[in-house]
Amino acid sequence: MSQLPDNPDALYGDVIMDHYRSPRHRQRLERPDAEAEEFNPFCGDRANLQLQVAGSVSNDAVIAGVSAVAEGCSIIQASASLLADGVHGRTVDEASDLSQLFRDLMQGKPLPPVALEELGELGALEVVRQYPVRIKCALLPWVALEEGLRRLR
Ligand code: ZN
Repeated sequence: MSQLPDNPDALYGDVIMDHYRSPRHRQRLERPDAEAEEFNPFCGDRANLQLQVAGSVSNDAVIAGVSAVAEGCSIIQASASLLADGVHGRTVDEASDLSQLFRDLMQGKPLPPVALEELGELGALEVVRQYPVRIKCALLPWVALEEGLRRLR
């Protein structure tokens, strides 16, 4: 297993470090339709996610509000921020598909170019696969997302 070098910038690249330093969608929602929290007792990472849809709750409802707050390492914070950017404006079903795509990416499944395009900036997190101990960190906000989406169905 790789050791983590001291300089995370060189390691993770610009997109991840940008989302780590300036996380998006951290503001809490006043009236979320769903909320979920996940905790990893091994490294103390925590992710809290709130979702709000436009109109009434359904699989086709557009996610109009997202709040993602993560505590822990740079990877979980960047992943939570990228997740929030990624699902904002998608429908509940589309967000669920994106989550599956992201899992496939993290598990090293070969993805067609159209899937990589769909992932957009999230593709930057593929680098985390080189540090297996961090894959759980990257996935934790997505576990919270899936729980939140389940509550919207
Ligand atoms: Zn972590």
